[in-house]
Amino acid sequence: MEIPKVKLIPHPETDEAKEIVGYKWNQIAGTRYHLGGKPEGLNEADYPVCESCSNKMTFYAQIDSIGDKFDLADCMVIHNFVCFDCFTVKAQLTQINS
Ligand SMILES: [Zn+2]
Repeated sequence: MEIPKVKLIPHPETDEAKEIVGYKWNQIAGTRYHLGGKPEGLNEADYPVCESCSNKMTFYAQIDSIGDKFDLADCMVIHNFVCFDCFTVKAQLTQINS
């Protein structure tokens, strides 16, 4: 199953939040948020299998590193998967080469 891609845009509401969003030397990292679609840097053949019922999991969301202050291991993203049979969820870090 593939969920249609929905782009997400960070919307920091306080000065403190605005300070942590984005990178000084990288204009792409910190903007790669979306629901559904395909996870960047990961092939469908490598999607995880549900730990509870062994079904192939559905890609649900990609969450980017927030910015310089809360970077995930050199601009990695978090890929979130869900099993639509038993609603087990799984998250994993992925390095995107772009
Ligand atoms: Zn399951």
